Amino acid sequence: MPDYKAPLREIQFVMNEVLESEKHYASLPGCEDATPDMVNAIIEEGAKFAERVLAPLNQVGDQEGCQFNDGDVKTPTGFKEAYQQYVEGGWPSLSHDPAHGGQGLPESIGTIISEMVGTANWSWGMYPGLSHGAMNTLSEHGTDEQKAVYLTKLVSGEWTGTMCLTESHCGTDLGLLRTKAEPQADGSYKISGSKIFISAGEHDMAENIIHIVLARLPDAPAGTKGISLFIVPKFMPQGDAVGARNGVVCGSIEHKMGIHGNATCVLNFDDATGYLIGPPNKGLNCMFTFMNTARLGTALQGLAHAEWGFQNSLPYAKDRLQMRSLTGAKNTDGAADPIIVHPAVRNMLLTQKAFAEGGRALIYFCAQLVDKAKLAGADEKLEADALLAFLTPIAKAFLTETGFESANHGVQVYGGHGYIAEWGMEQNVRDARISMLYEGTTQIQALDLLGRKVLMSQGESLKGFTKIVHKFCKEHANNDAMKPFVEPLATLNHEWGELTMKVGMKAMQDREEVGAAAVDYLMYSGYVTLAYFWARMAQQAQLALDQGTSEEAFYKAKVTTARFYFARLLPRTRAHAEIMQSGAESLMALDTEHFVF
Ligand SMILES: Cc1cc2nc3c(=O)[nH]c(=O)nc-3n(C[C@H](O)[C@H](O)[C@H](O)COP(=O)(O)OP(=O)(O)OC[C@H]3O[C@@H](n4cnc5c(N)ncnc54)[C@H](O)[C@@H]3O)c2cc1C
Repeated sequence: MPDYKAPLREIQFVMNEVLESEKHYASLPGCEDATPDMVNAIIEEGAKFAERVLAPLNQVGDQEGCQFNDGDVKTPTGFKEAYQQYVEGGWPSLSHDPAHGGQGLPESIGTIISEMVGTANWSWGMYPGLSHGAMNTLSEHGTDEQKAVYLTKLVSGEWTGTMCLTESHCGTDLGLLRTKAEPQADGSYKISGSKIFISAGEHDMAENIIHIVLARLPDAPAGTKGISLFIVPKFMPQGDAVGARNGVVCGSIEHKMGIHGNATCVLNFDDATGYLIGPPNKGLNCMFTFMNTARLGTALQGLAHAEWGFQNSLPYAKDRLQMRSLTGAKNTDGAADPIIVHPAVRNMLLTQKAFAEGGRALIYFCAQLVDKAKLAGADEKLEADALLAFLTPIAKAFLTETGFESANHGVQVYGGHGYIAEWGMEQNVRDARISMLYEGTTQIQALDLLGRKVLMSQGESLKGFTKIVHKFCKEHANNDAMKPFVEPLATLNHEWGELTMKVGMKAMQDREEVGAAAVDYLMYSGYVTLAYFWARMAQQAQLALDQGTSEEAFYKAKVTTARFYFARLLPRTRAHAEIMQSGAESLMALDTEHFVF
């Protein structure tokens, strides 16, 4: 049976040692309560909930899926009860404003809980995950009244939230959306239209669902400049309870490749009562709060599938006896050696491990930036916002691509058994596949990174990060133990800027060059970014070893994994660098009519 054990030592290493969370929290106003003891206690409780309550429901959710019956959705056995426990434990309110019933803890602590929840059971974790995005959106853009009525109920977990963007004819290109919003005399709006693929759009886990919906006002400008954002509750609030049913119903749920435990809904809005969030026609700007939360949330999904794949591949690789080691028998009492002796199997395990642990460092770093963007003084906030804008598409796309790769390695480690449902490895692949599609596909994240963030800022947004990498490399340039890491990292950091210039120059002649280079540019950026975090982890581990530690094996494993990353994963940058410079011509030369004869 597949299982999940929260990697507490790994989490603490990144949080406390590499990213110095104690210093981080002490520097932020309002984070005084986040003392190390308190944070550790929260994480340990979260780990118990993830391991004991959610992990056992992961396969149940996959096998049973959600059941649709005449507009209602029944979630898999145990999902509703687990949600009840989650609410009773106060988890939905962790990082939200005390003014609305929240516990006021920093977002970065919530991220760690989300990692454990999501790795134990991604489908289940999406229900509170979507609510979290709805809460952030209302916190930032809602009126006081909207916050009092809706936010408090979301924060308590009594109600859940959704994000309603996609329509059947538009997912990526939201400028095409058609859902209408007609103003009413009482200041409300009548919302009509149909949304598809809405995660957690209908379910039986909470008494009300608050849909955050993009729609168009009459006479709104065409395209993305004419989109507004609305709250549309499933049931109209009545005092502290729920009243009449609103005009939004679930038309059906999708039968899909993975995440079966999460309901993916068609939602039909028929003169549903809605309320405007933020200014008219600025809906997409407001929705970016939701989308950025969701993008980092999806980056976490990449980490979750890599970690889960690794945890469940490792014991199998130690147990399964096949063939002998090339250098002679290692398990002389047995009929064969465990497959972990074979270099090719180790390659898969170490790849999973390196992506999971490197991904964790990148995401926790981003989560600290979210804390700063919310709480720090003006200058630091600006800097954090800019860095976050640059790193978000990298984290989202690179970590989901590598998470999927890691999940696939899980199947391969198990051989034919990996293809059989019982072991859970094929579920991990199916569940992981969506992460590269929703919240902006890999291709769209790549265009966002190269086109909107890097080239439109004349390379400034890239410099914001490469400066940090440069500083780190310089600081450790004379440290012999760090040379194998900082020398290649410094070279790649420099090359990153040069490649950007080259692609940028070509793009001035032909805009197709941006689209042709973008995905390889993003993957290159991801490998270099993770190399920086692996170098930091190696440095921290080396420091502990130099100072003397009772955990020598742990820190040595860190340095060894960093060496693996630099030797066997970072060289993938060579192919990406070459491909991104190969130009658009070979992609665009073939006439659309000549793809097949
Ligand atoms: C299980 C599931 C859950 C979802 N949950 C939600 C949800 O909760 N809320 C919500 O609103 N939506 C949700 N979605 C929708 C999801 O976000 C979209 O499916 C996704 O954004 C892609 O849009 P699309 O399917 O319309 O594909 P399209 O936009 O039609 O794209 C098709 C292909 O073309 C590529 N492409 C398009 N334009 C470009 C371009 N300019 N350059 C390069 N490539 C391009 C895309 O990368 C993709 O490969 C969900 C989808 C699924 C399957």
